[in-house]
Amino acid sequence: MKKLFYNISKLYGTNHRGTFKSGAEMQQLNVVDNAWILVENGIIAAIGNAEAEMPSEVMERVDLSGAEVLPGFVDSHTHIVFAAPRHEEFAMRLAGASYEEIAANGGGILNSARKLQAMSEDELYEQAEARLKLMLAHGTTTVEIKSGYGLTVDAELKILRVVKRLKQHYTCIIKSTFLGAHAFPVEYKNNQQGYIDLIINEMLPVIVQEQLADHIDVFCDKGFFTVEQTAQILTEASKYGIPAKIHANELGLTGGVQVAVEHEAWSADHLEHCEENEIAAFKHGFSQNYGGTMPVGLPGTSYFLGIPYAPTKRFMENGLPVALATDFNPGSSPLCSLQTIWALACTQMKMMPVEAFHAITCNAARALRLENEVGSLAVGMRADFVVTKTKEAIKGIPYFMGQNHIEATFVLGERI
Ligand SMILES: [Zn+2]
Repeated sequence: MKKLFYNISKLYGTNHRGTFKSGAEMQQLNVVDNAWILVENGIIAAIGNAEAEMPSEVMERVDLSGAEVLPGFVDSHTHIVFAAPRHEEFAMRLAGASYEEIAANGGGILNSARKLQAMSEDELYEQAEARLKLMLAHGTTTVEIKSGYGLTVDAELKILRVVKRLKQHYTCIIKSTFLGAHAFPVEYKNNQQGYIDLIINEMLPVIVQEQLADHIDVFCDKGFFTVEQTAQILTEASKYGIPAKIHANELGLTGGVQVAVEHEAWSADHLEHCEENEIAAFKHGFSQNYGGTMPVGLPGTSYFLGIPYAPTKRFMENGLPVALATDFNPGSSPLCSLQTIWALACTQMKMMPVEAFHAITCNAARALRLENEVGSLAVGMRADFVVTKTKEAIKGIPYFMGQNHIEATFVLGERI
């Protein structure tokens, strides 16, 4: 089945298949003016810009009326399977309590876990699906989803089964991450090793058997999992061949980046607290055969919690790539749109619009090792793209903050 999309005033992100950009390369934008895209069975078969070259034998033709087109956005870090918002903690924080104080009093992740444990799988599915639809409407066509609000064997499996159902019902790429090590449940407060044993001996084997996780994650941070505990979990997961993506350095200089690189993690996410040693660790990672650990900033969390932003400019000055994600979750980033992340990256992290664009497309794809399928528009890639009426979209989208600039979202060449 062939389909031609034409009358595209600007087609952005036309990098070679497999591209991700590091350092100064993140400023280099590939764009085709007056473009067309030929799609065959959901995959890009050709891209061109001269009307004379436009295929004529094509069955279905879609006139995009001079709109601009970008690759579908890639959200490499979300927690969209949750049971309830946490409005009351929002108010507590505004009244002066810190995220850590709320967590220490049984709020935070443990609060979400209690509510999720009590909710049926069907109800959780419906809620997660509504959030996924919202993300698709805002231009996100690849989504990573983590567990971590279960914290019991049954509840963690319940979340991952919800993600599996989403994968079966949606054509967009969905990747699942097992984050049993998100927090210590109350009953393990004085027996942390007991909970780690539960993760390793009870949760992991079932997850592997039912193929419920594409990656493993650990919240390696102050008040959560130590570097040693993180290493223990990642070592066990690596025996099953499950790659790591970890929460690191949100709350302090905790060694999270170093342990991520040591364990050849695909990404280390958060990074609000990073100094020279962390930058050196990332650079070391990219000199190694495993392909490096992508630094992923989550500016929605910094904005919502009022904590520092990851020093993404310093990463780029040191020649590193940078990706950005929403961290969509009920406690620290109730934010579905990568367009807002794009705006925050510019206004708060001082990234250039084009750098932030690459951070939510090709580099975010690399954080999931999907850069051969999504994140750029090139022959052989999936026809996952978004149409915007906004002119000069690379600057216009982050500039007109708070609007949804997406006119239409296409996955495998089909409008959804
Ligand atoms: Zn997170």
